[in-house]
Amino acid sequence: MAKFKLAQYWAASCGGCDVAVLDVHEKILDIAEAAELVFWPIALDFKYKDVEAMEDKSIDVCLFNGAIRNSEQKHVAELLRKKSKVMIAFGACACYGGIPGLANFTNRKEIFNTVYKETLSTVNPEGIFPKTSIEVPEGEVTLPEFFNTVKTLDQVVQVEYYIPGCPPTPKTILNAIDAIVKNQLPPIGSTLAGKKTLCDECDRKKEERKISKIYRSHEIIPDPEICLLEQGLICCGPATRSGCETRCINVNMPCRGCYGPSDEVSDQGAKLLSAVGSLADSNDEEKIKEILDEFEDPAGLFYRFSLPASLLHRKTMKGD
Ligand code: SF4
Ligand code: SF4
Ligand code: SF4
Repeated sequence: MAKFKLAQYWAASCGGCDVAVLDVHEKILDIAEAAELVFWPIALDFKYKDVEAMEDKSIDVCLFNGAIRNSEQKHVAELLRKKSKVMIAFGACACYGGIPGLANFTNRKEIFNTVYKETLSTVNPEGIFPKTSIEVPEGEVTLPEFFNTVKTLDQVVQVEYYIPGCPPTPKTILNAIDAIVKNQLPPIGSTLAGKKTLCDECDRKKEERKISKIYRSHEIIPDPEICLLEQGLICCGPATRSGCETRCINVNMPCRGCYGPSDEVSDQGAKLLSAVGSLADSNDEEKIKEILDEFEDPAGLFYRFSLPASLLHRKTMKGD
């Protein structure tokens, strides 16, 4: 059987998604049997010019991880789109913006001020900031432009499929590779994971208990049989897609939402706000406020992986 041509790339990413492909252990041999790697910068010495020289649509599948944070990542996303038959947003950052997408709670100016001026370890009395171009005796030296807003892959190029997770689990990856090899991919636009929410996949007892106190994970050892949310731990299961086999719940930790919103949830953060708000054990407005005020960072928690893909997209700031 002819091998399919596979490309893999990382943009605004931690590298975990690239490593996750190796988490399939000995099954990597099956992937090597089925796929010919034509581009994978983290592992093999390919150059952009190698991709530029390829025929359009000559790559069968491109697994693209990471969000779009700068002009180089946008350029490579567009290049790989042109060269690939099937573009797959791989991992939470490419699908929804992920952890890099939390930068949409601020803007480029604030980030540059913090990084190049205000941190205690920075010495920059002249206030020098990175430039996209500078002339030196040898000629012009350029840097990619750092965008004001982090985008998901599908906000920059057309995407056929989504593989969620931070990172995707080995089973999620193997199921997707299997569907590619057997030519059994679902309709374009599908997410290659569960359809329902994580709560549907979770077998903890749900007793519809109300909560009078919110705990952080280090403050209690929760009952391993009972729903974590009902024990006061903020679990993102009600608004998160199933498919990870309740990976965090199995070790008594609440879900943080890395599989993104399920098919029936349009905005993960808004759905979580509503789910948690309805659990407060009081009808008194002041008491409800007191319970919910214990949240350290509700926006950061509810939109931890999905801010750029959400209805909010970003915080609007003066001067943006
Ligand atoms: S989804 Fe998670 S593991 Fe993958 S690149 Fe983003 S932060 Fe890293
Ligand atoms: S909220 Fe969390 S612990 Fe509770 S049922 Fe849903 S996934 Fe399970
Ligand atoms: S339980 Fe939630 S945070 Fe943990 S892997 Fe699954 S979707 Fe991601």
